Amino acid sequence: MARFDIAVIGGGLLGCFAARELSRWKLDIVILEAREDVCTGISRANTAVVYPGYDHRPGTLKAELCVRANASFGQLCHELDIPFSRCGSMMLSFGLRADAVLQKKLNQGQKNGVPGLRLLSAGEAYRMEPALAPGLSSALYAPTAGTVNPWQLGIAACENAVQNGAELRLNTRVFAMRREEHGYLLETDKGVVRARAVVNCAGLAADRVQEMLYPSSVRIVPTAGDYLILDKNSAGKPAHVLEYEPEGKEKGLTVVPTTEGSLLLGPGERENTSDYAASETGLAHVRELAARLLPGLEFGKVIRSFAAVRPNPQRPDGQRIHSFCIEHPAERFWSLIGVKTPGLTCARELGAYIAGYLAEELAAEINPRFDPTRRGICRAHDLSSEARSALARQDPDYGEILCFCEDVTKAEVLEAIRRGAVTVDGVKRRVGTGMGRCQGARCEQRIAALLAGALDIPESAVRKDGPGSEIVRAVHEKL
Ligand SMILES: Cc1cc2nc3c(=O)[nH]c(=O)nc-3n(C[C@H](O)[C@H](O)[C@H](O)COP(=O)(O)OP(=O)(O)OC[C@H]3O[C@@H](n4cnc5c(N)ncnc54)[C@H](O)[C@@H]3O)c2cc1C
Repeated sequence: MARFDIAVIGGGLLGCFAARELSRWKLDIVILEAREDVCTGISRANTAVVYPGYDHRPGTLKAELCVRANASFGQLCHELDIPFSRCGSMMLSFGLRADAVLQKKLNQGQKNGVPGLRLLSAGEAYRMEPALAPGLSSALYAPTAGTVNPWQLGIAACENAVQNGAELRLNTRVFAMRREEHGYLLETDKGVVRARAVVNCAGLAADRVQEMLYPSSVRIVPTAGDYLILDKNSAGKPAHVLEYEPEGKEKGLTVVPTTEGSLLLGPGERENTSDYAASETGLAHVRELAARLLPGLEFGKVIRSFAAVRPNPQRPDGQRIHSFCIEHPAERFWSLIGVKTPGLTCARELGAYIAGYLAEELAAEINPRFDPTRRGICRAHDLSSEARSALARQDPDYGEILCFCEDVTKAEVLEAIRRGAVTVDGVKRRVGTGMGRCQGARCEQRIAALLAGALDIPESAVRKDGPGSEIVRAVHEKL
């Protein structure tokens, strides 16, 4: 029977970073993930903003961790070898109500120690973002805000944890837990796992996972939000993350120039649903807000829509919770329940926070061999043409382009599969195939064939993403 020091339940951003930060100590760590890959849950679909830290009440853990995480985010992405754009953000007001919100955020941010935060006049804001709609009243500028690709970040953290000794077990759902004399027994659909400690990072299911063993004072109430993505070459794209604070009571809009060059708009809000299917009305609302903010946007260049699900934390009496819910119901059992924004920004800090306490509880020694660096997949697109030609001479698969929109070669796809991609979207999350204008129409079949060959499965068993998304069946059904 498998025995570990720590079982981390859930391979999203929080679980991957918890494992990475725990691997700084001499501990046997296992990540138990229900799905076929990491980062397929909340961490797959979100707004991708690295927040500066003005949104949170001064003195709270959220404020402290967010400001600290933001300051070291460049270093983190450098260690993990993934792109990060510190493009800055502008929160935008078109009237008195929103002006007051901006002023409150400025005061909060200054108390939280957010560097460089300042209010801009409308004139200054238009000079920085000429495509903004007329009628701007003021803008709150945060130069430290940025954007990162969330799944690249989570996958990199997982690879780094594994490099430092953690074990990743996929397709391994925990369905029951028992307390034992020296720790915990976890029943999974791949057998029993024993661990001295448990870290529960089960995302939308984190409250139910804790309740397998201990009561939880937090309930997760899911709500969905819709997003649109515009192609790289669409006109009127801003250079900063824009946060539109409308005058009415409606929810605002975030506009993100992503690290891939596309433009992300969203999210809207739909009540009490955990449905990942995008809704027509939600998308129409996003479009309407975006057109109000940036009238020159070319909506003919929308290349994708999707929905995300928020794990809103509430008390059992329905009271909303605004802080991070870190539960410690018993010795050596930690849960992160209902961590929504800024969970992406703070994933490393939250992991480090729990790792620090657990290392103490387990009297763990420092791992002298811990290496914080991980090498990403070599991207032909980022090389000079000379370097690219030299690489293609060494490895002809670097000379064969599979995804023309994003300029991804066969060698990169094969390396993504070698590193753990088992679905077409798993490849996409590692090397960006299918992220461009054609959304995989031209490369999906070839990637599916490579997956089938590498995994030794029939092409009809290759899936786009989760269970039930077999590509060949989908094609047959359309005919
Ligand atoms: C709409 C939206 C927008 C957001 N935007 C931002 C943003 O711009 N910036 C920011 O900082 N933060 C943002 N966030 C927050 C951030 O995305 C989340 O905090 C983070 O992704 C949470 O990751 P997670 O690991 O908790 O969850 P997940 O990624 O869902 O991972 C949980 C994992 O646990 C697995 N699991 C569940 N049950 C079990 C079980 N019984 N056994 C084994 N495995 C199990 C699941 O399969 C899943 O893979 C946003 C969140 C949402 C919802």
